[in-house]
Amino acid sequence: MDKPWVHIIGGGVAGLSLARELANYPNLPGTLVISDPRSAYANDKTFSFWFLESERAQLKPENELKKWTISSIAKNTIMAGNIYHYGIRSAGNFYTEAIQKIDGHPMMKRKEEMLTKKPSAQFVFDSRPPNIKEHLITQSFYGTEVKLSEPHNLIHAGLMDDLESTKTGIRFRYALPLSEDRLLVEYTEFSTRPANLEALKILNHAWLEQQFADKFIELRMEAAHIPMGFKIETPHLGIPIGTRGGMTRAATGYGFSTMQHWASATAKALVSGQPPRQYPSSFLFSQMDGLLLQLIAKRPDVVPSIFEHLAEHLSGDQFAQFMMQTRLSDAIRVILSSPKKPFILAALGLSSWI
Ligand SMILES: Cc1cc2nc3c(=O)[nH]c(=O)nc-3n(C[C@H](O)[C@H](O)[C@H](O)COP(=O)(O)OP(=O)(O)OC[C@H]3O[C@@H](n4cnc5c(N)ncnc54)[C@H](O)[C@@H]3O)c2cc1C
Repeated sequence: MDKPWVHIIGGGVAGLSLARELANYPNLPGTLVISDPRSAYANDKTFSFWFLESERAQLKPENELKKWTISSIAKNTIMAGNIYHYGIRSAGNFYTEAIQKIDGHPMMKRKEEMLTKKPSAQFVFDSRPPNIKEHLITQSFYGTEVKLSEPHNLIHAGLMDDLESTKTGIRFRYALPLSEDRLLVEYTEFSTRPANLEALKILNHAWLEQQFADKFIELRMEAAHIPMGFKIETPHLGIPIGTRGGMTRAATGYGFSTMQHWASATAKALVSGQPPRQYPSSFLFSQMDGLLLQLIAKRPDVVPSIFEHLAEHLSGDQFAQFMMQTRLSDAIRVILSSPKKPFILAALGLSSWI
């Protein structure tokens, strides 16, 4: 092949999404190569996101919920999205759709390889998971997907339930109805050190047994330690995209929807001859996320009440916008709705005064 037009390093969410969007154009200005060491794609993740009706065709939710809960021993808040719904898409379906489109395009080629040097191409995008120099907090979770022998009757997404502080951070349960008899349960910790995944798995089972006795079978698991609020150590081999490119929200871990919108806009720009630009991360968001992560690290005991306060003072739609990566006006609204004292003292480096 002549020098490719586009070379994408990493065929994960960001890389496959960009190639899939470019596959909508039968006549590209040149060839596209996408390199990834994976030989097969497993159903290894469940992507969740808030979405508007106008985003349905793009994000393709397989299930959706209009309400979600945040609860602790002290409070239980049910939030309802008016224009935003909470959508769920399985990684398995996402990968299959993208790979079929890419493999069906005569100018695209997937290569099973691990790159360590910048390839030669007109435009190179780098989505390798970043090597991290330092990070503030680790998000650890263990997810158990189960099938029940009768409907679970859960109609809300349990976003952050039984939210509590631990010595090193916060812990909560995430329970996601995937259909009327399928459920994903994930005990999650945001902590200064990676949590014990086996202990989180035991919590999943204890909750499932308490709720449904023995009326479920385990179908699948997913687990990860995700760094939050990190500095990248290794140089990029091209334009950084995906998590490496700052498309995952530091304080929440949501990134799927951002990557879908970025991919479609970038594909459009590329085919019309505009040079691609690095994803612009918001200064205000990174400052605010930094403060929240500092509080989790230094004063985890105050964090559950901050989330409870946000759940009480923001509408469902405003909360949804905050959890994704959106506009400056949303960030300002959230700052104004947050309990001021912990944020101001954390900003001044005075967390111990809270
Ligand atoms: C279990 C899990 C669940 C998640 N759930 C959600 C969710 O519900 N909602 C949400 O918004 N976000 C979620 N995220 C966060 C984020 O959306 C995902 O992590 C997403 O996969 C990030 O996309 P990416 O393209 O940056 O990285 P990845 O999807 O990880 O892709 C990176 C790719 O690079 C490849 N690679 C690595 N090294 C090389 C190399 N040297 N050369 C070539 N290729 C290489 C890897 O094999 C991989 O395929 C989740 C993350 C995890 C881990």
